Amino acid sequence: MIRLVLFGRQGAGKGTQAVMLSEHYKAPHISTGDMLREAVAEGTAVGQKVMAILDAGELVPDETMLEVIHDRLAHDDVEQHGFLLDGFPRTVGQAKSLLKIATVDLGVNLEVPERLVLERISSRRVCQQGHIYSVNDDAAREGVCPIDSTLVEQRDDDTPEAVTARLDAYKMKTAVAMAYFDSQGLLLSVDGVGEPEAVFRRLVEAIDARLDHDDRW
Ligand code: ADP
Repeated sequence: MIRLVLFGRQGAGKGTQAVMLSEHYKAPHISTGDMLREAVAEGTAVGQKVMAILDAGELVPDETMLEVIHDRLAHDDVEQHGFLLDGFPRTVGQAKSLLKIATVDLGVNLEVPERLVLERISSRRVCQQGHIYSVNDDAAREGVCPIDSTLVEQRDDDTPEAVTARLDAYKMKTAVAMAYFDSQGLLLSVDGVGEPEAVFRRLVEAIDARLDHDDRW
């Protein structure tokens, strides 16, 4: 069982790699962005609270996030198979809280320069279940996800203004959360530039080498 946190700026390919890593390590993929968008779509109490924040590309308050993550980590699948956290923690407060409520084997920073991610985000399309495509893929052109047949569209928060706000939050807040993980000896940086398959192989190799070395499992 593995308990990983995946860091990486918007458009770094974090969501795509998280799906592949979750299959590889047989650990549940927990994407707080997907969970919040689902809450918005379902109109739950949390959803109503966070809808405007998401659309603006701002961060949901730590307190709300901690409730969401606390509930999710209490599920049986996490106890049995660990987790692959995608999108949490995003602030140093969240990072400290997470390390209090759960054991984390490693945080992985998927590194992609900012100038490369802007283009990726503007061409990103997603289905309602979170499968990710590029504007030129058949799925995006047809507007239907080949995996689950839901609608493929641009995310509401992939507008230039919201993207800029998210990248700013990343620089100001999430970078500090990562630095905290580093100070706890829990951070590994991996080059995220390249084809998804190549990046995936690089990630698995680096993660396995580090965890074997640490002898954590
Ligand atoms: P991205 O990485 O492209 O910003 P996500 O799908 O991870 O996209 O998150 C979408 C939005 O959900 C964020 O802009 C933010 O408003 C909210 N969100 C997700 N995770 C967190 C978190 N840990 N703390 C605060 N807000 C969050």
